[in-house]
Amino acid sequence: MAGKLYIVPTPIGNLEDITLRALRILNEVDLILAEDTRNTAFLLKHYNIVKPLQSHHQFNEHRSIENIIERLQGGAVIAVVSDAGTPGISDPGYLLIRECVKAGIPVECLPGPTAFVPALVNSGIPSDRFMFEGFLPHKKGRHTRLQALAAEQRTIILYESPFRLVKTLTQLAEFLGADRYASVSRELTKIYEENARGSLEGLITHFSGKTVKGEIVIVVEGGKKGMSNILPGP
Ligand code: SAM
Repeated sequence: MAGKLYIVPTPIGNLEDITLRALRILNEVDLILAEDTRNTAFLLKHYNIVKPLQSHHQFNEHRSIENIIERLQGGAVIAVVSDAGTPGISDPGYLLIRECVKAGIPVECLPGPTAFVPALVNSGIPSDRFMFEGFLPHKKGRHTRLQALAAEQRTIILYESPFRLVKTLTQLAEFLGADRYASVSRELTKIYEENARGSLEGLITHFSGKTVKGEIVIVVEGGKKGMSNILPGP
């Protein structure tokens, strides 16, 4: 009998943000695959859950997938978690899920925390149509992606590190226009949560000249229909 793979979202900061079902599933499975076993051990200890943990991250997932599929085919029920939020969203998970789907193994993703949803909703920017860009590439392909964003009419969501925030806001201003409305959500669900809203130019001023700390989501208003975005020359 084939087992089952559960995708279990975990808190993005506040440990209370985990569902009752997520806790029950973590308590019931045979094995938990974790991006960082120390992080997950901390979460499990907080909820008095004792389960075998196995490391599953972007550097070993190619190698370990075959063995996990065999265990699932042998009837094991396995949960996959990442360090924070929903596995598969800018985190490992996709490759394993794809292989399970190919092998006919049931996959179930529990609804739960993911950073971009509260960032989008907090922003006050239209949330009826949006595109999730995740992290922009650091070098190769970055300009091409920024150019594509300049033509985007839906709300744009980006993940970014605090060290690159000002650089990315500056490039967004360059490609999309300095007066484009945006919102930066920092440290969502944590004590020092901040949601800064304004033009890209205003946000650059707000975050420049200080050490930016914490985790960040950028939400940018989409371009208006018929608006020609100012693209930098070659
Ligand atoms: N799987 C996660 C999810 O479902 O959102 C995303 C993991 S990705 C490796 C980590 C990025 O998510 C961070 O660099 C940041 O952009 C965003 N993020 C995670 N937690 C956050 C938080 N508490 N506040 C703001 N952004 C956060």
